[in-house]
Amino acid sequence: MKITCITVFQVDLPLEHPYWLSGGRLKFEVLDATFVRIDTDTGITGWGEGTPWGHTYVPAHGPGIRAGIETMAPFLLGLDPRRVLEVERAMDLSLPGHLYAKGPIDMACWDIAGRAAGLPIADLMGGGSRTPRAIASSVGARSAEETRAVIDRYRARGYVAHSVKIGGDVARDIARIRDVEAYRDPGEIVLYDVNRGWTRQQALRVMSACEDLNVMFEQPCETLDDIAAIAGKHASPVSIDESLVTLQDAVRIAREGLADVFGIKLNRVGGLTKAGRMRDIALAHGIDMFVMATGGSVLADCEALHLAATVPDPHCHAVWSCQDMITIDIADGRGPRNIAGHLHLPEIPGLGVHPDENTLGDPVAVHG
Ligand code: MG
Repeated sequence: MKITCITVFQVDLPLEHPYWLSGGRLKFEVLDATFVRIDTDTGITGWGEGTPWGHTYVPAHGPGIRAGIETMAPFLLGLDPRRVLEVERAMDLSLPGHLYAKGPIDMACWDIAGRAAGLPIADLMGGGSRTPRAIASSVGARSAEETRAVIDRYRARGYVAHSVKIGGDVARDIARIRDVEAYRDPGEIVLYDVNRGWTRQQALRVMSACEDLNVMFEQPCETLDDIAAIAGKHASPVSIDESLVTLQDAVRIAREGLADVFGIKLNRVGGLTKAGRMRDIALAHGIDMFVMATGGSVLADCEALHLAATVPDPHCHAVWSCQDMITIDIADGRGPRNIAGHLHLPEIPGLGVHPDENTLGDPVAVHG
């Protein structure tokens, strides 16, 4: 089997509600999505998606995905897409770094490999759990009253896990955490996601003030060095998300004991092939996982769900459903959707969902 053509589409995915990251730093209303169709000489087609969570969240850029694919495409045409490691090496040789640009190609290749084998991707990766995965909400940085209202909105959809965005103002953060903890139902999972919003001393002030609550903080500071510097000075569980980009990051976090949980976002780390290795590093070091899309449609959510299904049930805390935050559905209700706050693995070979091409507009590039 050979890759014969790589067709690229760009779609703006409007957010249902404007979104603020921690401390009101980063507001945006539309996600810049890239969809990729890979055709092969056998007639089997695969789809991938790359949708950064805006261009201010991490070093990933919507137009950069299209530019990266244009650079890599000549090195990918003619390769067997089922040999995902060969495709990965060709991408890494032709364009070092830029993992987010590689994610959609990797995803489409796994889709093709699954369809050719007659297996869902999770089973092709070694076996996927059918236990439905709890979806975590994403509660933007707001006042205590607004935070409760957003949590209520997600509870009405069946959600039992919430990622509450904090960071920026120590006193306000402590008050919001205490308010949410008082509002939390027994059995609900709440993660406090700082999105790098604290300096080292701000992190330590909030974490020590909330020590009695034993809550988990995600990405409290900007860098791994910052998180390492505070590691011995607080007692709170930590999840690392934005600073987990490469396999080398995963190894450092695991060996130095910097996190109790990996937040693996598929597009940020470059797709399933690379993310699968991070999963194994985590499991080998007693680290649990949140697995999710960086952003995007049901395709991106579905990719993350396949990886989440390969994580043993007790070690997978939650997934995400970014599709619930955007106002366009490019797959007309198909694929994994929120059912009582959970996503169910599709029993369909490959990714398990393809877009309606007529929702994508004309291609912005055709390579091949
Ligand atoms: Mg996060």
